[in-house]
Amino acid sequence: MSYDLVIIGAGPAGLTAGIYAAARKLNAVILEAGDGGGQPGNVYPEKPMANYPGLPVNETRDLMARFSEHALKAGCDIRRRERALDIADKGDVLLVHSEKAEYETKAVILATGGGLYKPKRLGAVGEEEFEGRGVYYRLPETHLLEGKRVLFVGGGNSALEMALLCATMPDTYTCLVHRRDTFRADACNVDRLGPEGVKTYLCSEVAEIKGKDKVESVILKVGDPPELEEMPIDMVVIHIGFTTEPEDIKRWGIEPQDGLIKVGTDMRTSRRGVFACGDIVTYPGKYKQIVVACGEAATAANSAYKYIAKPYWA
Ligand SMILES: Cc1cc2nc3c(=O)[nH]c(=O)nc-3n(C[C@H](O)[C@H](O)[C@H](O)COP(=O)(O)OP(=O)(O)OC[C@H]3O[C@@H](n4cnc5c(N)ncnc54)[C@H](O)[C@@H]3O)c2cc1C
Repeated sequence: MSYDLVIIGAGPAGLTAGIYAAARKLNAVILEAGDGGGQPGNVYPEKPMANYPGLPVNETRDLMARFSEHALKAGCDIRRRERALDIADKGDVLLVHSEKAEYETKAVILATGGGLYKPKRLGAVGEEEFEGRGVYYRLPETHLLEGKRVLFVGGGNSALEMALLCATMPDTYTCLVHRRDTFRADACNVDRLGPEGVKTYLCSEVAEIKGKDKVESVILKVGDPPELEEMPIDMVVIHIGFTTEPEDIKRWGIEPQDGLIKVGTDMRTSRRGVFACGDIVTYPGKYKQIVVACGEAATAANSAYKYIAKPYWA
């Protein structure tokens, strides 16, 4: 596969770089290790966003949904769940290796921001042992839920929306466990739980996940003071947030400065053909904000265009 530009990361910076690259008609691909949306979509999706000019939103994930929609409408090719692993030299071009493919490209924009988002673990006994065999951190494909007893963990909109979706599948038993006495989610979701058949356990925690080859039951600590209750369960879906894990910049062939990438005013890095933008970059006065990441992304895409196409005005 041969491209003009490979953009790594689909947070605010990567999506903006994609929009600007599309305007220049660069043949570009965006590789995203997770589902995209960067920190705003994964770390603080329910926080109001008051400082993105012209688009204040009550929930930041709505802003990121707009970014994503805009990028897709502009014609960006976004490959989700495809982590970029390294960048090799091949004569005048670069080779980006991902978990799934190899991309020959004239230029690269690194927009890896805060790094990779890993789902938070509960720390319950059996959780690690049964991961992928009944313990999940994303909703499994809905047809796999049919006829299953599914326990969700979490108190935000994402956990509730997943549980509500599961409850619509044929012959499922759906329950939702949250350690606090109220849900964080919107009232419109909370009010649907009972009527749509989701059994709730507040002030409760998963103490142990049990089974032989796969999950068969769960021991819950229910209420305050806690009482132990074992229930037959086929799947445990945990959605209690994300932690970030920084990417190793040395893998991109760039010498890090305090764990970040030093760039010039045109967002050029020390490596030929490689540009960077967003939270991964550093320079005097750098301010880690979405609007800044977007501004740098526009510059990075323009610099990559000049590097690739060498227009008369460059
Ligand atoms: C709690 C919190 C609150 C904040 N509040 C605000 C606020 O109110 N207003 C504001 O403007 N800013 C806020 N920020 C800062 C803002 O979120 C960041 O400045 C912005 O997200 C940076 O965007 P980015 O695209 O550079 O990086 P990120 O948002 O970190 O996105 C990077 C993307 O790259 C992906 N990625 C990483 N490595 C790879 C790889 N190897 N291959 C493929 N994909 C990869 C990641 O999965 C991720 O999707 C806040 C930050 C935090 C933590």
